[in-house]
Amino acid sequence: MSTTEQRVAIVTGAARGIGAATAVRLAAEGRAVAALDLSEEACAGTVEQITAAGGRALAVGCDVADAEQVTSAVARVAAELGPPEILVNNAGVLRDNLLFRMSESDWDTVMNVHLRGAFLMTRACQSHMVDAGFGRVVSLSSTSALGNRGQVNYAAAKAGIQGFTKTLAKELGKFGITANAVAPGFIATEMTAQTADRLGVTFDDLQQAAAQEIPVRRVGRPEDVAAAIAFFTGEEAGFVSGQVLYVAGGPLS
Ligand code: NAD
Repeated sequence: MSTTEQRVAIVTGAARGIGAATAVRLAAEGRAVAALDLSEEACAGTVEQITAAGGRALAVGCDVADAEQVTSAVARVAAELGPPEILVNNAGVLRDNLLFRMSESDWDTVMNVHLRGAFLMTRACQSHMVDAGFGRVVSLSSTSALGNRGQVNYAAAKAGIQGFTKTLAKELGKFGITANAVAPGFIATEMTAQTADRLGVTFDDLQQAAAQEIPVRRVGRPEDVAAAIAFFTGEEAGFVSGQVLYVAGGPLS
């Protein structure tokens, strides 16, 4: 690849929240971006924001937990934008419940989207990265990986992402591919708004309470996480691999 060619990035869960901010940020850094989410229509806003700023973007509908959909989505990106050399495994869901109330479906849904999804997407993209001799995989973990009440499913999946990432770093490093994880704390998105609903408090109150516990005295924004992801995807980050970067407004106590 010549240095004037644009690298192609896929961001999963890019219809809103952290994924949308990441897609916009990577496009601002000159990447062509496939914004992938459950439906193509849901990604229209993200794609419009990128193209209005002069970037190249493609909306792709795909359930990351479905192997056939993942294979065709990655093939479509390769055909319409170019071979993907950057992958951000960001798609996620919550199915919070205390253990005794957690259903098998709550468990399976979270495992399927976060872990099976990251596995399928990375497996589908890796041959393009190996061919290019360059690749960047960034997967979303969470401070919940360290344990969080009501989230045995999510905590296990987000801890799993860390083991997945370190193993990818060991297997794929010799092909010029790095793998890192970003582990956010409280970020104001639809996901944390859902948590406020579940707890029966307003989203404002939840954010204010969370901010009191965070050393920088504010909750995170999707752009805070996008900036960390952008670092790991950069051309100059090739010697940083297998790391977990907590983006949480302070150290973890
Ligand atoms: P969000 O709910 O706002 O967005 C998640 C996106 O993923 C949605 O657009 C949704 O449609 C998409 N998605 C869900 N299932 C999918 C599937 N099967 N296939 C494709 N797309 C799918 O969430 P967010 O807060 O932006 O979170 C993004 C990532 O960051 C998630 O992995 C989440 O676990 C992680 N995270 C978020 C926080 C936070 O405080 N918001 C903290 C730590 C980690």
